[in-house]
Amino acid sequence: MNGDPLGYASTSFWLETCDDDLTPRAPLDGSADVDVAILGAGYTGLWTAYELLRRDPSLSIAILEREIAGFGASGRNGGWAAPNLNATPTNLERRFGRDRMLALERAVASGVDEIGRFCAAEHVEADYIKGGSLTIARGPSQIAALDADWAALNEAGLSDGHVRLTNRPRSLMSSVGRGPAVSVRP
Ligand SMILES: Cc1cc2nc3c(=O)[nH]c(=O)nc-3n(C[C@H](O)[C@H](O)[C@H](O)COP(=O)(O)OP(=O)(O)OC[C@H]3O[C@@H](n4cnc5c(N)ncnc54)[C@H](O)[C@@H]3O)c2cc1C
Repeated sequence: MNGDPLGYASTSFWLETCDDDLTPRAPLDGSADVDVAILGAGYTGLWTAYELLRRDPSLSIAILEREIAGFGASGRNGGWAAPNLNATPTNLERRFGRDRMLALERAVASGVDEIGRFCAAEHVEADYIKGGSLTIARGPSQIAALDADWAALNEAGLSDGHVRLTNRPRSLMSSVGRGPAVSVRP
């Protein structure tokens, strides 16, 4: 290690603790002829390259990064790999229909497990912990929506972690648990 010459460690806790000297790789010194060129060494670029090579190891792939791998959101996030979309199952079903909602929920949930398979297969020490997550209703008005979401997840076969609280303290009325949620060290 030569001590993080460009100061990238201050970017995030993950970069600060990743035990790498964070020296950028050498830039291209001219044109390169490759099968696939990818801009950006975040999750999107790296997963794309990994998946392409898994399917066809003969491909030549160049990943071009402006800073260092993990400089963007991928190296700064909260470390949650949860099967949560920015829309509830109920809203997704309303907009796209039941079949597409179920397919999407299953695909997102399987992505969380795929991260675990990847870490195991590639010996990545990502502290993959499958602890689940809770979505909480903070008042009676939110319970019906949670119940509807749970029914949708149940139909998708994704309701393992469902919890319904019976004592219902004022601040914690009911909850939907999503079994596959994971904390991970990005
Ligand atoms: C604070 C925060 C917390 C988050 N928490 C979570 C979480 O807990 N769980 C979760 O699932 N998601 C979380 N996210 C979202 C998640 O981190 C992002 O969706 C994901 O990292 C996006 O990956 P990406 O590869 O598309 O983009 P990035 O990680 O941003 O990668 C893009 C890369 O492209 C490079 N680049 C840009 N322009 C060029 C160029 N012209 N040439 C070459 N390289 C270039 C950048 O330097 C960067 O390295 C969080 C995001 C933030 C910001």
